[in-house]
Amino acid sequence: MADKTRRFEDNVPGKYYVDEDCISCGACIDAAPNNFKESDDGDHDVVFKQPENEEEEKQCQDAIAECPVECIGDDGD
Ligand code: SF4
Repeated sequence: MADKTRRFEDNVPGKYYVDEDCISCGACIDAAPNNFKESDDGDHDVVFKQPENEEEEKQCQDAIAECPVECIGDDGD
């Protein structure tokens, strides 16, 4: 389960985030390309935009389900 105290600082503020357990596998980008991207340093993936409609919300939930290390949270501020 993701830990919001360990979220990467380059996630945008809000509900969804990636924490420091990310292994940069890219599955979240495949599931939710409107919301996840690789970080600028290429070290991990981040949420660059919070979902703005039902479809994006569903895709972010899919990203959580697909993440192999369960490092995507939806309990952010
Ligand atoms: S699916 Fe999870 S481990 Fe893979 S890049 Fe996305 S956040 Fe990181």
